[in-house]
Amino acid sequence: MSRDYYETLGVSKASSDADIKKAYRTLAMQYHPDRNKGDKAAEAKFKEINEAYETLKDPQKKAAYDRYGHESYKNASSGGGGFHNRGFSSDDFSFDSSSPFSDIFDEFFNNRSERMDMRGADLRYETSITLEEAFRGKNIDLKIKTNISCKACRGTGSEGGARPKACPSCRGTGKMRFSQGFFMVERTCTACNGTGHIIENSCRECRGAGRVGTTKNISVSIPAGIEDGARIRLSGEGEAGIRGGNSGDLYIFVSVKPHKLFRREGSTINCDVPISIITAALGGDIEVPTIDGKKAIVKIPAGTQSGNIMKLRNKGMTIIRSTMRGDMMIHARVETPVNLTKKQRELLAEFDTENNSHPQSSGFFSKVKEFWQEL
Ligand SMILES: [Zn+2]
Ligand SMILES: [Zn+2]
Repeated sequence: MSRDYYETLGVSKASSDADIKKAYRTLAMQYHPDRNKGDKAAEAKFKEINEAYETLKDPQKKAAYDRYGHESYKNASSGGGGFHNRGFSSDDFSFDSSSPFSDIFDEFFNNRSERMDMRGADLRYETSITLEEAFRGKNIDLKIKTNISCKACRGTGSEGGARPKACPSCRGTGKMRFSQGFFMVERTCTACNGTGHIIENSCRECRGAGRVGTTKNISVSIPAGIEDGARIRLSGEGEAGIRGGNSGDLYIFVSVKPHKLFRREGSTINCDVPISIITAALGGDIEVPTIDGKKAIVKIPAGTQSGNIMKLRNKGMTIIRSTMRGDMMIHARVETPVNLTKKQRELLAEFDTENNSHPQSSGFFSKVKEFWQEL
């Protein structure tokens, strides 16, 4: 996904409005859902193109975007939450008619309450843990590059923390009203960019932004029993807002690596265990590893078949936010011996002269007989 609206449309900051519009139309035609039925990638691209154009076609939004940068602008314009974009569906799509009338309406309805919400960006961090760590839970210490509130100006952006002055152009409302033909048009104040106040002396530490870049240490506890793909939200641990706006959130995405012995299904641990023909036929005890790093003894009953399952109660995964554990399932894989000695071959041949009971074979061959008779 492009991180920048200009990049999305393949234009530069210096491109004219006409060039931006042309680039948008070309791309919108190319990725339009009607031409790319069922293509999710094209659909996502189409939304991105629309979102980018929505901002770049509007001089005020474009100015705000250039001024605050992609992340801050997106958070502000989507009302917080860097993860949800403003909802565009393909139904919202229409080529803009460019009539002056529609432009006035557009401004009147869209810009009337558009005051920049200066919420900080959400941060996303991904971590990958082992199944054993998911079983026990884990504390991780993160070093996160982020923006924090500027100490020098206490986040106000004005030197020494002085209170910003109300914007004289809009008298602190963030909006300008004037009449245009029959309409009273309200637009975002360009002097203060809709914030309603101006800073006379910008803080030297943060150049007026009210926040500074830093590396923050955060300790996160991943609960025992966490599922692969789970998301942990740390409220307010994202980037500081601009000039006193609310902080964003920090999201930790946890993936659990596949294990070489165990397959997890929720709180159940599955393990395939090879069993010799002899143990399978005569029965016996075998030792199996468990997810807690210990061992368990499994009783193999005489006559065990490949695929039979033995259950070990409470030897599975931790059930999240509890002290309970799921079960462990041992899947028997009866193994045929290879590289037999002459003596072993003779013994097996002798063994085969006795009349053995093979439950699967007798069932199978009686079905084969029926099958032939029915033809
Ligand atoms: Zn400052
Ligand atoms: Zn103003």
